[in-house]
Amino acid sequence: MKIVEVEAIWLRVPALDQPCEWGEDALIVRIHTDTGLVGIGETDSSPAVVKALIETPASHETCQGLRQVLLGENPLEIDRLWKKMYRQTEYVGRRGAGIHAISALDIALWDIAGQHYGVPVHTLLGGKYRERIPAYGTFIPRATDAANRDLVGSLLAQGLRSIKLGGGGFGENPERDKRLLRLVREAIGAEVQLQIDLVGRWGNAAHALAQCDALREFNLGWIEEPLPADDARGLAYLAEHAGIPVSGGEGLATRHEFRDFLERTRPAIVQPDITRCGGISEMRHIHELARQHGARLVPHGFSTGILLAATTHFLAVCEFGDLIEYSQSDSPLFRGLVKNLLPLVDGQVPVPDEPGLGIVLDEAMLERYRVR
Ligand code: MG
Repeated sequence: MKIVEVEAIWLRVPALDQPCEWGEDALIVRIHTDTGLVGIGETDSSPAVVKALIETPASHETCQGLRQVLLGENPLEIDRLWKKMYRQTEYVGRRGAGIHAISALDIALWDIAGQHYGVPVHTLLGGKYRERIPAYGTFIPRATDAANRDLVGSLLAQGLRSIKLGGGGFGENPERDKRLLRLVREAIGAEVQLQIDLVGRWGNAAHALAQCDALREFNLGWIEEPLPADDARGLAYLAEHAGIPVSGGEGLATRHEFRDFLERTRPAIVQPDITRCGGISEMRHIHELARQHGARLVPHGFSTGILLAATTHFLAVCEFGDLIEYSQSDSPLFRGLVKNLLPLVDGQVPVPDEPGLGIVLDEAMLERYRVR
């Protein structure tokens, strides 16, 4: 079997000159083989940048386009191809967008392998531990109390027993944050898990520590990215003194960045995104590193149903993979791009058993939102 074509497809819901929210654009890849199999992948990154990294013609040995790197290769040789992609994009890759592009292609290669062998990806990865994965729902706070109560109500109505809020200026105004958390905690009761995402907004460790004390009464499951990712000393200080589990890592790529992160900041929870950290292949290394450092792995995931499927297959084979993020985006790219989107059933995501990732794309939607 040989790879005969690699497509990088840029999707976007709003027009190019209009603002774009989380989940409203995407970069999808399709790898075609000479046996007619097609593998699907994606990365939640800057679509135009990743598209260029895939399509660019070669400059020299360590500055090649990923499409050319893969053409003619046997798609089943995933580990060798991952290393080849990494090596041959070294000057523009190694981290960041270069790894985001490799992530998408790696996911597509696993999809092909599963289809070729007639088994779900989770079987290729070693076998699933569970039939369904409990989910948490993320929401961005709205402007009014009534709107926030409605949002929380819709999360509970989906059977979710764990929720997270962040974005929309959360973390900037201590009084407003506290008021919002009081409203949410009252609406969900004492039993439902509640997490907050600061996206680095607490700025420095002293302020963050004061905020942890101020918010302790809300019994938070974790505080996500309380400080900017490069403030390793501040994050390590918080991990030791906050008294609330600290999480982070959605922007990191490769086992190398995660090793540094784990060793220097000692997070309770790491949150790699399977479409950015290096794909399914690299996620396995990061999972093992997290285990060795005593950290829990709860993946980040807020894009299309392709990301959701890849994350679900991966978490199914993690012995302690018992929490998955389920996007609450209304974007058609989440709700409809994958025709058989994995559903939320009573707050849990069922693990699919179709060969490969087991997903079918809506071709009409692909055409409708494609940037040309
Ligand atoms: Mg986050």
